[in-house]
Amino acid sequence: MTKGREYVTEVFKKVKEDNAHESEFLQAVKEVFETLVPVFDRYPKYIEENILERLVEPERVISFRVAWLDDQGKVQVNKGYRVQYSSAIGPYKGGIRFHPSVNQSIVKFLGFEQIFKNSLTGLPIGGGKGGSNFDPKGKSDNEVMRFVQAFMTELQKYIGPDIDVPAGDIGVGAREVGYMFGQYKKLNGYKNGVITGKGLTYGGSLVRKEATGYGAVYFAEQMLKANSKDIAGKIAIVSGSGNVAIYAAEKLQQLGAKVVAMSDSSGYIYDENGINLDTIKELKEKQRERISKYVEFHPHSVFTKAEEGRIWSIKTDLAFPCATQNELNEEDAKVLVENGLLAVSEGANMPSTLEAINVFHQAGVLFGPAKAANAGGVAVSALEMSQNSMRLAWTFEEVDAKLYDIMKNIYEESVKASKEFGQEGNLVLGSNIAGFLKVAEAMSTQGLV
Ligand code: NDP
Repeated sequence: MTKGREYVTEVFKKVKEDNAHESEFLQAVKEVFETLVPVFDRYPKYIEENILERLVEPERVISFRVAWLDDQGKVQVNKGYRVQYSSAIGPYKGGIRFHPSVNQSIVKFLGFEQIFKNSLTGLPIGGGKGGSNFDPKGKSDNEVMRFVQAFMTELQKYIGPDIDVPAGDIGVGAREVGYMFGQYKKLNGYKNGVITGKGLTYGGSLVRKEATGYGAVYFAEQMLKANSKDIAGKIAIVSGSGNVAIYAAEKLQQLGAKVVAMSDSSGYIYDENGINLDTIKELKEKQRERISKYVEFHPHSVFTKAEEGRIWSIKTDLAFPCATQNELNEEDAKVLVENGLLAVSEGANMPSTLEAINVFHQAGVLFGPAKAANAGGVAVSALEMSQNSMRLAWTFEEVDAKLYDIMKNIYEESVKASKEFGQEGNLVLGSNIAGFLKVAEAMSTQGLV
């Protein structure tokens, strides 16, 4: 066993013991640790400085009560979290998720991944993440507002433009970000750099809404180009129908691919003519409806309930998992490969299980891991912070061009690291190492803090 392998095994054992019930967190840590072995073999000083054990322990985990009144005047209570994971290279930065499944394990896995992703963007932002087990589904606008105000009344104690800058994630879109910003402003005065994903009328950036989805497609484009292939003319599946999924589908269509299926937690729709995105936007962005309603507008399309079938059973060239963690498992991966899959680009965070990733790697499928492929969202968030600091607003074309360059650069850096560390083309390894090296060097230089 090499020194690097010994070190990684020993630290992982400890992490497992200390976080035994946090399965998502352990899954994310395991994936990263496995790929860092060659780094510790090459740079033993990071073993001496115990960088890994320091990095895997969040700088701070904040957990708080959120009490709010529903429309019946009844008191409701939810859990709120903010994990301030690493400030080695910049202020904590990462989204807020509102979903009933949110717990400490989920927030920690997301925060841990965010460190590497943010480092990969090349911008000075640290890693963080937050959320609540509040479910916005079925709540009135007033209930959402009261909940968010209660959530922010507590969260505002810990955030600030140079300290910790939240944004959206699952269940947190334009409406929720607006209420968060309003409450922060009421308590602290106008500081527009405190949250990103803001509306365009109060300091938001053009392309932020589109950034994660567009970025995942730009990343796929780079992978395909390097293999003399193109997005035009390809069949694609995009899971989810939220912010990331909608704009991944939009960019795919703009580049000439045919998106034949999308989903939500209730099931998926298949439209052999290609998904009509205007209908999806109307149903999802405006009406907050279920995706099954799509067939009422396009009767030739088919809706399959989640219990009755998997979106990944459809034959496709390109797969964009853009819904949630662990939505694509080993079985799904095998079916996709049998059906001739060319490439996967992960819009969601940790959507493929470790076993599914192995299937893709073994089959030679081009695989763009989340930390690299979905970094476009946070990259444009950082560009929003820059515009806020400079008190100016760039055009759509300017921001889009910067996003494109950032995604291209992330791809190139990941490929370069995969080559340097002996597994050319393994972008899981490449992106983890490229992201890690910058953070490790910053930690090493700053002393034991
Ligand atoms: P949204 O809330 O806008 O959309 C989420 C979509 O995923 C919805 O269609 C939702 O369906 C579906 N979904 C959520 N949970 C589940 C589940 N347990 N099973 C099946 N489907 C589910 O979120 P986003 O589009 O913002 O986020 C999607 C993913 O992308 C997440 O993993 C997020 O962390 C990641 N991401 C987001 C970024 C951003 O900029 N927004 C940046 C980087 C990553 P339903 O409505 O039925 O719940």
